[in-house]
Amino acid sequence: MNTGMLSVVIPAYNEQENIPHLVKSLEPVMEKLSREYEIVFIDDGSTDNTFNALKDMRKNNSRIKIIKFRKNFGQTAALAAGFTHAKGDVIITMDSDLQNDPEDIPKLIEKMNEDYDVVCGWRAERKDSIFKKLFSKFANGFRRKITGENIHDSGCTLRAYKKEAVADLDLYGEMHRYIPALLSWKGYKIGEVIVQHHARKFGKTKYSWQRIIKGFLDLLVVTFWQRYSARPIHIFGSFGIILTLVGMAIGGYLGFQRLFHKISLGDRPLFTLSILMVVIGIQFFMSGILADIMVKVYHGQNDKKNYLIERIEE
Ligand code: UDP
Ligand code: MG
Repeated sequence: MNTGMLSVVIPAYNEQENIPHLVKSLEPVMEKLSREYEIVFIDDGSTDNTFNALKDMRKNNSRIKIIKFRKNFGQTAALAAGFTHAKGDVIITMDSDLQNDPEDIPKLIEKMNEDYDVVCGWRAERKDSIFKKLFSKFANGFRRKITGENIHDSGCTLRAYKKEAVADLDLYGEMHRYIPALLSWKGYKIGEVIVQHHARKFGKTKYSWQRIIKGFLDLLVVTFWQRYSARPIHIFGSFGIILTLVGMAIGGYLGFQRLFHKISLGDRPLFTLSILMVVIGIQFFMSGILADIMVKVYHGQNDKKNYLIERIEE
């Protein structure tokens, strides 16, 4: 069983009324776990009194740390900053809007002790608008299909991570929803527990319909990167070869008719198509080779490894 330090990472963007309530309910839970702990708040460029509220909390509890962003960089960036600065062996993330319940933290940790690297909360009974719930159901189903990772609720930020799992994650955009997918692709074990969810009492949600589009595009990029980042030539090259071969076959057929049946090429649209296919096919192939070289350069940088070792026994 793990007894190392715990870090709670909490992004906050314009959540002034929520901060005192949150700290008040979180502190006793953390004390009861009787482990070393810290609470790392990320003030994501709030324009209200969130930062002052956080500083007030810090006066009474030196375990509270505040990372203040210069401007609003978004929840994913805030989580990434939290991961970098957290000192704990286990990192717990949650929202600051009182929609997650600190009482669920011990459950996450208990589950983690069953030998999981990441434990995700699942808001089985969500307290959000019907539209949000329906859309989220659809989006979660779609994500499970595309990523092959199959936790129920990728929108729930209440999660526990082992430090090493998040140590070298490249997070940007709206990618925090796909952290479990990214981690399961790397071979980390992902568990799930049902957690509570409350309706928002103070402040407003920070997201609108635009996140649907951004989230969808991020999903495509994340998945494409996972499938083909190692060998982009596999996808570009396959397209290229197929197009070129079909183009050449059509061209050969037309050439045959020209030579032996004296059918003129001048008024045959197929001829243009075959040339186009060969040219595009070769382009695809070349793009694939270039992409492959770029990936090699990328992996050559900063010692990026294409494997992860769980442990070495010697
Ligand atoms: N948040 C943030 N930066 C942003 C947007 C949101 O730090 O740009 C925080 C926000 O303060 C909250 C959490 O991320 O603690 C989840 O946001 P929100 O409650 O608005 O999302 P919802 O619950 O509606 O999905
Ligand atoms: Mg919320």
